Amino acid sequence: MNKAAHPAAPSAGWNFDNSYSRLAPVFFTAQDPAKVREPRMVIFNHALAQSLGLSAENLSGEAGAIIFSGNALPQGATPIAQAYAGHQFGHFNMLGDGRAILLGEQLAPDGGRFDIQLKGAGITPFSRRGDGRAALGPMLREYIISEAMHALGIPTTRSLAVVTTGEPVYRETVLQGAVLTRVADSHIRVGTFQYAAMLDDNSAVKTLVDYTLQRHYAGVAQAENPYIAMLDAVIDRQASLLAQWMHTGFIHGVMNTDNMSICGETIDYGPCAFMDAYDPGTVFSSIDAQGRYAFGNQPPIAQWNLARLAETLLPLLHDEQQAAVEIAQELLSSFAAKFRQYWLNGMRAKLGLTNAEDTDTGLIEALCKCMLRHRLDYTNTLRDLASDAIRQSPAWQQEDFRAWHDDWQQRLARQPATMETAMSLMLQRNPAVIPRNHQVEAALEAANAGDFSVMQKLLEVLAEPYRDNPAHAPYRLPAPPSAQRYQTFCGT
Ligand code: AMP
Ligand code: MG
Repeated sequence: MNKAAHPAAPSAGWNFDNSYSRLAPVFFTAQDPAKVREPRMVIFNHALAQSLGLSAENLSGEAGAIIFSGNALPQGATPIAQAYAGHQFGHFNMLGDGRAILLGEQLAPDGGRFDIQLKGAGITPFSRRGDGRAALGPMLREYIISEAMHALGIPTTRSLAVVTTGEPVYRETVLQGAVLTRVADSHIRVGTFQYAAMLDDNSAVKTLVDYTLQRHYAGVAQAENPYIAMLDAVIDRQASLLAQWMHTGFIHGVMNTDNMSICGETIDYGPCAFMDAYDPGTVFSSIDAQGRYAFGNQPPIAQWNLARLAETLLPLLHDEQQAAVEIAQELLSSFAAKFRQYWLNGMRAKLGLTNAEDTDTGLIEALCKCMLRHRLDYTNTLRDLASDAIRQSPAWQQEDFRAWHDDWQQRLARQPATMETAMSLMLQRNPAVIPRNHQVEAALEAANAGDFSVMQKLLEVLAEPYRDNPAHAPYRLPAPPSAQRYQTFCGT
């Protein structure tokens, strides 16, 4: 690519470092984005740009379209495709960025370091199959859901921009091509460690772990054995993340080890979706016929993925293999208890409980069973509990729900906190709005036809998920029965 042909405006605010591309060459290949025919900005994240120290004024229009399509490189970028591996639905494969290109790391004014990645930016040496491209719908879907997750307070990669390419992409039908600019604390995955462990090079895992320690786990870098401490910390962050998914009904859909970030962010929004009626068996993804990644399976799957990570770290945990295995097993077995504690604390808050009683787990599980039995909407039932709205809700028609409600009221009355405190806590922890599948689909359908206003409105609503706003009431409705057998497709 001829960089001189498109000199980037210095006032755009780029402040790149490229620490990953200084890592050993086995971890990536240099790869420029492919040029596209007619880049056009369709959505730009002003607030995110600002927090990154980027000029929205400079980048939200045509100049930004040129950068975020990959047609020109921002100042200081060293574009690479990252190598990784992964267990996909349980089967190990060597992978790598097949359609994503990391431009570099933007050093933000707050001191943060953020990967800036173009997704859908063309073929790389890792694109064994596939065209290296992405379609507009799935890229907007990632934008909407990742930004909704952020607003919900859940650790996630972010979305800075979506640019259409003016070129077709061929899937089951002909679709519009697009490039998403993804912002992440990093794109290091469990699968990156698996890749390093497969190399004929004993030092690769250590190089990667030392880098990860410095970048994401500096707090434990001084521990007696920092590798043990890091594994412990990774497990802790994943336990916390999984609890937050379970608190909001988020179903990732494709929890392969290459789609699990080492720093504990939600990453790789493919066939993900939010559950409507509470049911641990909920699966939306068309490719997950066995339900491996069903809602209720997510915590044990996370633990399984973490075991794959621990395997790669064994030589660093202890000199003797047996001792290393024992250390790893002990750490891995702590996942369940850690997850349980995060989950329980969060569910207590969702029910307005400010102290702990032994019977709380039973109280929470009884509510879940009741929601399952009557196919009650998970999000709405919990939100309605925080006000009189519960008496007008579908839940209230159920006798066993009203009995549960009595028990819960008595539990609230026993705690020192006032009802007012409990209710205000609940309003902060139970979102009024989530990205409902039918709303997301409607936004994408309009966008595909050239009308981006439906998506803009949806994004506005999703940016304030905990606020009571009567104007947002339509966004609280679960899908009409006709749309309830919702399926998501991988969308590559
Ligand atoms: P995913 O299911 O999106 O996590 O992707 C799994 C692997 O397939 C990754 O290595 C991707 O880079 C690769 N991949 C996905 N879509 C494409 C595509 N359109 N062209 C080339 N590689 C792709
Ligand atoms: Mg992936």
